[in-house]
Amino acid sequence: ISPDPAIVLDDRFARELNEMAVPWHGQEVPDARLLVLNEPLAADLGLDPAWLRTSDGLRLLVGNLIPPGAAPVAQAYSGHQFGGFSPRLGDGRALLLGEVTDTAGRLRDIHLKGSGPTPFSRGGDGFAAVGPMLREYIVSEAMHALGIPTTRSLAVVGTGRQVRRDTMLPGAVLTRVASSHLRVGSFQYARATGNVDLLRRLADHAIDRHYPDAADAEQPYLALFEAVVAAQAELVAQWMLVGFVHGVMNTDNMTISGETIDYGPCAFMDAFDPRALYSSIDETGRYAYGNQPFVAEWNLARFGETLLPLMDDDQDNAVSRLSEALGAFRAQYSDAWSAGMRDKLGLPEDLDREVTAPLIDELIALLREHRVDYTSFFRDLGAAARGDSGSARGMFTTSEAFDAWAERWRALGPDAARMDRVNPVYIPRNHLVEEALTAAEKDDTGPLGQLLDAVTHPYHDRPDLQRYAAPAPEDFGPYRTFC
Ligand code: AMP
Ligand code: MG
Ligand code: MG
Repeated sequence: ISPDPAIVLDDRFARELNEMAVPWHGQEVPDARLLVLNEPLAADLGLDPAWLRTSDGLRLLVGNLIPPGAAPVAQAYSGHQFGGFSPRLGDGRALLLGEVTDTAGRLRDIHLKGSGPTPFSRGGDGFAAVGPMLREYIVSEAMHALGIPTTRSLAVVGTGRQVRRDTMLPGAVLTRVASSHLRVGSFQYARATGNVDLLRRLADHAIDRHYPDAADAEQPYLALFEAVVAAQAELVAQWMLVGFVHGVMNTDNMTISGETIDYGPCAFMDAFDPRALYSSIDETGRYAYGNQPFVAEWNLARFGETLLPLMDDDQDNAVSRLSEALGAFRAQYSDAWSAGMRDKLGLPEDLDREVTAPLIDELIALLREHRVDYTSFFRDLGAAARGDSGSARGMFTTSEAFDAWAERWRALGPDAARMDRVNPVYIPRNHLVEEALTAAEKDDTGPLGQLLDAVTHPYHDRPDLQRYAAPAPEDFGPYRTFC
């Protein structure tokens, strides 16, 4: 075990964009206790897991030990929350510790959530509770294992502090790792300051970190916009394909990198339903499952607006070029979704869309009508491709509906092995997440460990983990989450 942090943190964001970075520090933690540590991720970052477990390591993970040369900051950003613009949000309970170059040479943000009040806390206390931080850990690591771009979770450390919510809850800090924390809301903030030089530096910083090819384009900022539109179209299509509901797609919760960020009232849907939504604060259903592609497009329009001052020709032309770029979103989304569905159904790639599209549409309508468990259905359809359709068929209230559809599907020659590589056995099911969080709050991290074992190897069917593949029992009832 090395005696020192052996972590070199850059402060690139703070240096290049100091107008958006307030030097800050984590609040002193009375009684740090490690709840979970992501050892493979630590290794990717070049960090020694054994050192992270020491008391100095825990102090780093809660923001109380600042490595030499590091300059932690709270980041400023704005955001449209449920459609209404808030000019000043920012890290109200978070800190960017700095950036580390990982073993693959990539620059990654090390960020803390729940580290105490900051100048952006507004009415909030700056803290986070164990439950929601563990939920982010579980769901983000499950998303990563599913191959979906996301921020990662390095650790959750209990603080020993009680946090006041509806009741008193144990507090925690999550250490998050991301390719950056640049958000649509970051651009909205820079734009709202009226400082075009700051906006340009932010866009250049984003290009350099995420889309270096855009720098060589004829119109680098238009190319940046096009790249983000494409990344988000791909991302949201992947959410839809696994049945993920983000729950709070405000513009401050949408990244420029195309990674999923800010797991709050999120969940995977069980029975297929476009209205699926688990947030306790979304009264109109704005962020329901089926709305996500439209919300993404709306958020991207807000992003495009921020770039107008950087476009070098007249504003009418700039508006029409950005609009045209945004216009690509629908086709990109729909192509990504259709290709993903074709893979989930194991269908050959050269099939005509006129053949596959009606088959997919009919299946979606059937899943909805019969309230079929989305994840189990696709996995069991792999068995159906091998000739054993019993369990997929049994999910429908009347099996005739499935049989007629399945006959047409089977005639197209589905490839079961391909299906098993894209249809997960294990997702973080709501009742299992709750079980793990409740136990961890009482100092039993056993169920958390088991659940993580299942969802971080989502395609690998294991007989000993059978209960992790099953839908919630009837008596679990409707699910609500909070952040
Ligand atoms: P979210 O909806 O979780 O992405 O958060 C929206 C905004 O509220 C961000 O600026 C957060 O930093 C801030 N926020 C959320 N919870 C708290 C809290 N407990 N204390 C201070 N700020 C918070
Ligand atoms: Mg947020
Ligand atoms: Mg948040």
